[in-house]
Amino acid sequence: MKRLLVLVVLGALAACGTQRPAFIRTQTPHEAYTDSLRRAGLAETALGLEWLAAAEAALREPVRAKLPVAMTTEYPAAEPRAFGYRLTLQRGRVLRVEVTPAGDEPALVFLDLFRLDQAPDTPPRPLASADRDALVLEREIDRDGDYLLRIQPELLRSGTFTISQDTTAALSFPVDGRTSAAVQSFFRDARDGGRREHHGIDIFAPRDTPVHAAAGGVVSQVGTNNLGGNVVWLWDARRGHSHYYAHLASQAVSTGQVVQAGEVIGYVGNTGNARTTAPHLHFGIYARGEGPIDPLPFVQ
Ligand SMILES: [Zn+2]
Repeated sequence: MKRLLVLVVLGALAACGTQRPAFIRTQTPHEAYTDSLRRAGLAETALGLEWLAAAEAALREPVRAKLPVAMTTEYPAAEPRAFGYRLTLQRGRVLRVEVTPAGDEPALVFLDLFRLDQAPDTPPRPLASADRDALVLEREIDRDGDYLLRIQPELLRSGTFTISQDTTAALSFPVDGRTSAAVQSFFRDARDGGRREHHGIDIFAPRDTPVHAAAGGVVSQVGTNNLGGNVVWLWDARRGHSHYYAHLASQAVSTGQVVQAGEVIGYVGNTGNARTTAPHLHFGIYARGEGPIDPLPFVQ
């Protein structure tokens, strides 16, 4: 029984491995590996010192990269290397980094993502790491800014691998059969002759095209108002966001209903102040304690 409990606890630790809050941060696999090199006396060898220096240099002098990145490179055991990339990422994107070894030989490669602060001389802050035996790192970005990615193979190992990095949308697209190409009006566009700003994006589609929940959540309100016409509010508890779906021809959910991402919640229309415009979905995201944020990176 006790053994089972230990396994369950270990499993739970492994499961939250990539999203650790800073205040209970345990060692990253790279930090644990560095400690093991020190304990084994390998950190003092010429190659060990080079490996540690390469890890530091990747943080100090990353290469500025524009996504997507796909590159194949060698890493000779005799010249320990680490690859550092500086990435500018938007809130609402999910960064995915994958390392694919060329041969069949299993490779131990450390993937670490850091946040870069605005202030100079502030060391990069560890944000997420791939699990020790995984060659994939995935992380939803919750703040616009500059990030640093470091990829480093273990000491005393040669090989070739392909590094691929890209981002995808954190949410699913809310209008059936459409993509961000159907967005014709953007966040902060002027409204009412500049007296107010547009707090969302407008996605154009024929009347009665199904509207999908962009994320799983709870329907917090279904109603009608002058500006939005027929509207649905959806609470995405995971991110602390409220989604606003407006100008609907009709709604297909009721208050309190729990919906999955992709579920139909209504149909495209031009109700409210969109009566003189072609049918479209107004889609807005309001972050808790913050107000409206740009939905486009979340769905593009
Ligand atoms: Zn709008």
